[in-house]
Amino acid sequence: MPVSSDPIHVGSAEGVLYIVATPIGNLDDLSPRVMETFRKVDVVAAEDTRHSGRLLQHLGIQKAMVAIHDHNERDRTSAVIDRLLAGAQVALISDAGTPLISDPGYVLVREARQRGIRVSPVPGPCALVAALSAAGLPTDRFRFEGFLPTKRAARRSALEALVREPATLVFYESPHRILETAALLAEVMGADRPVVLARELTKAFETFYSGTAEEVARLLEADPYASKGEFVVMVQGAPERPAEAPDLDVDRFLTLLLAELPVKKVVRLGAELTGISRNDLYQRALALKDQP
Ligand code: SAM
Repeated sequence: MPVSSDPIHVGSAEGVLYIVATPIGNLDDLSPRVMETFRKVDVVAAEDTRHSGRLLQHLGIQKAMVAIHDHNERDRTSAVIDRLLAGAQVALISDAGTPLISDPGYVLVREARQRGIRVSPVPGPCALVAALSAAGLPTDRFRFEGFLPTKRAARRSALEALVREPATLVFYESPHRILETAALLAEVMGADRPVVLARELTKAFETFYSGTAEEVARLLEADPYASKGEFVVMVQGAPERPAEAPDLDVDRFLTLLLAELPVKKVVRLGAELTGISRNDLYQRALALKDQP
């Protein structure tokens, strides 16, 4: 049951590090508890002090700020820890959403915990959770992979390593690469794999693109706004392989079917029966057909 008072923590030093989630687009998502936390802390540690300074200004709050970003997190951590040990209350925020989720803060939180400093979350928006909650894909298990590598070959390898993952996959992706990634998903995960892209969540042009990987890639190509805005990419997990699948002689299975049916049918049935991706089966079937 929700309570309105602060959680009670036992045996911690006096300073408190609050991990504060901020809106991912819609400022109305900023909770009263976030406001209260901003008011009571001594310092706001922010990824980009100019960006977050504007948010605080908009909220009518003036606070001392310290910048903690990917390039200085290790150096800045000790200064913030000293302040916390001296009893200061600090709010850690990122540019948008929940700190530490593909954002800086891990080094500071780990160090604070190791030093017995109380660390308390003030939860709120997170693009990953918002996207998943509305995508219509299974959420009982999901695997968040952050950003895919920027280089094309590395991105392909990263996806290939996830082809058999049964949990729903979630990625963050930059607008510059979204078209390429959508096409790559169809190629690597299989044209029929269910995919959902969530664009500009909580903002005026919030859009969900959903369908098979191939359909989503086409939808995106046809949309002039496709490479604008922020994206969460979600891919339904691979069907679980039946228990006997590891013993299956895939080549023999394909050879028998290919003797009776056209390749397309073999691939469709084979994927259904074995849980192996259509793409993998297709490549294997072609190789077998080419064999003398
Ligand atoms: N910590 C943030 C969070 O809690 O979601 C994520 C920070 S990460 C650096 C930024 C990425 O999150 C973007 O490139 C995009 O993939 C995703 N993202 C952030 N805001 C979004 C939004 N409003 N709609 C869709 N995706 C968003």
